[in-house]
Amino acid sequence: MSKKGMVYLVGAGPGEPKLSTLRAKELIERCDVLVFDNLANPELRKWTRKECIQIDVGKSPGRHTVEQRDIEKTLVEHAASGSMVVRLKGGDPFVFGRCAEEMLALDKADIAYEVVPGVTAALACAGYAGLPLSHRECGSTISFLTGHEDLTKEELRVDFSKFAQVGGTLCIYMGMSKLEEIVEKLLNGGMSPDIPSAVVSNGTLPSQKKIISSLKDLVSSTKNAGLGAPAIVFIGNAIGRTGDKANWFEKRPLFGRKLVLTRPTGQVSKFKKKLEQLGAEVIELPLIKILPSEDKKLIAEVFAGIATYEWAVFTSANGAREFMRLFFLAYGDIRSFGPMRIACVGESTAEVFRNHCLEVEIVAEKSTAENLAKDLVATDSLDSANVLVVTGNRNREVLVQMLEDIGHAIVDTLPLYETDFTDVTDAVDLKKFRELGADAIIFTSSSTALSYIEQEDDLVLGPEAIKPIICSFGPETSKTLSENELTVELECANPSIEDMTSRLVKYFS
Ligand code: SAH
Repeated sequence: MSKKGMVYLVGAGPGEPKLSTLRAKELIERCDVLVFDNLANPELRKWTRKECIQIDVGKSPGRHTVEQRDIEKTLVEHAASGSMVVRLKGGDPFVFGRCAEEMLALDKADIAYEVVPGVTAALACAGYAGLPLSHRECGSTISFLTGHEDLTKEELRVDFSKFAQVGGTLCIYMGMSKLEEIVEKLLNGGMSPDIPSAVVSNGTLPSQKKIISSLKDLVSSTKNAGLGAPAIVFIGNAIGRTGDKANWFEKRPLFGRKLVLTRPTGQVSKFKKKLEQLGAEVIELPLIKILPSEDKKLIAEVFAGIATYEWAVFTSANGAREFMRLFFLAYGDIRSFGPMRIACVGESTAEVFRNHCLEVEIVAEKSTAENLAKDLVATDSLDSANVLVVTGNRNREVLVQMLEDIGHAIVDTLPLYETDFTDVTDAVDLKKFRELGADAIIFTSSSTALSYIEQEDDLVLGPEAIKPIICSFGPETSKTLSENELTVELECANPSIEDMTSRLVKYFS
């Protein structure tokens, strides 16, 4: 008989992926089958292995809700056939998560399981909205209540009039569709109409919204602000202690902005992190892929003669990174780098060398290949000098020509990578982009712009979507964009993540 698998009932946390536990991440990365519903952030699914089978058991428009019984059956069947199954539930699996039924079904089928707690929505929403749940003077109990047990049940199961007497802080899950009734019951039960109340929807996400009001105005304030589910309703004196002040999360400069990054996924992470820290929601639409060059003979020749070059010139961070990777493969020791002087087109290219404690003598002021060539010629060191130009397949005849014709240098070019367009329909975030649009789309190179233009038909925005402004990392990229009738709103003076980030902050604040 084949070995049985195992089921992990895992809390996904409230929304922000980084609020999931290390244990959750570890299990998602390893599992064979991932069973998820709507509340678990889709970002978490990106952590799975390629072979992982992903099963959606959530409610979605135009589709029947998967019955609880069928979810249990799915878990049992996959585990029984030997798979490691992660059942991902929003927040904490034990808080209004129907975990008991799933555990009992697994026990019955004699399948081993483990529970991984998660950060529940009430705690996360309170923290991210700056609303304390307890206070020494006025909040000594915290209650978690539910407005309804599930959507199909009409009745309120909790007797809210009794909770009017409990005091402390009430945290109400699934309360939005019954808010009016809940407030009425609390008031009828004797709760003060002036008690501080709040609603936090989409807590911890870039779309988080909150309102703070008195209990008597809670329903109208919620309606006016257009707040919808998922949301937590808070009622109690403690949450009124900070008022509108402790607004740390929504105050960040790029809060709620949707920004599209178009570079290959592996490389966006630093940029992505930076934008997310400032509150932005990053949409990843990788438009190009970088493939290492195959010309092994040429690479070997150049590295064998590395000591003969006076200048090494780099037109992109990709080229720089690949060059250093190959260099260490060949020599394994930075001392073999020799006296070559280094020139780079942009700051992010220069950073690759600075990370190895190598000095970069020239970073073109305005990052175009022409400017770099001018700066190099101005050093008066090119006449008959051996110069190595490291490039991709799409650049830069002009640079080489200028170094040869004006500087009289002897130039060897080393194409180290090839840029190819990716199929944008493979991008996980494409659906979201077409549906919602974005505030800005950031093109890092001419090739990302060209790929966008070529695939424009697949990138058409829906009727409700926000039209993004166009941002460009440098003049050459801007040229490609404007030649294709795309108006550039923001352009880096000095192509770097830092420069683009500060321009975005300025533009959106
Ligand atoms: N097990 C989950 C709760 C599931 S019930 C947990 O521990 O958080 C679903 C309810 O949780 C929603 O109706 C809403 O009230 C709340 N909720 C979940 N995620 C939320 C979020 N990001 N912001 C606000 N409320 C959320």
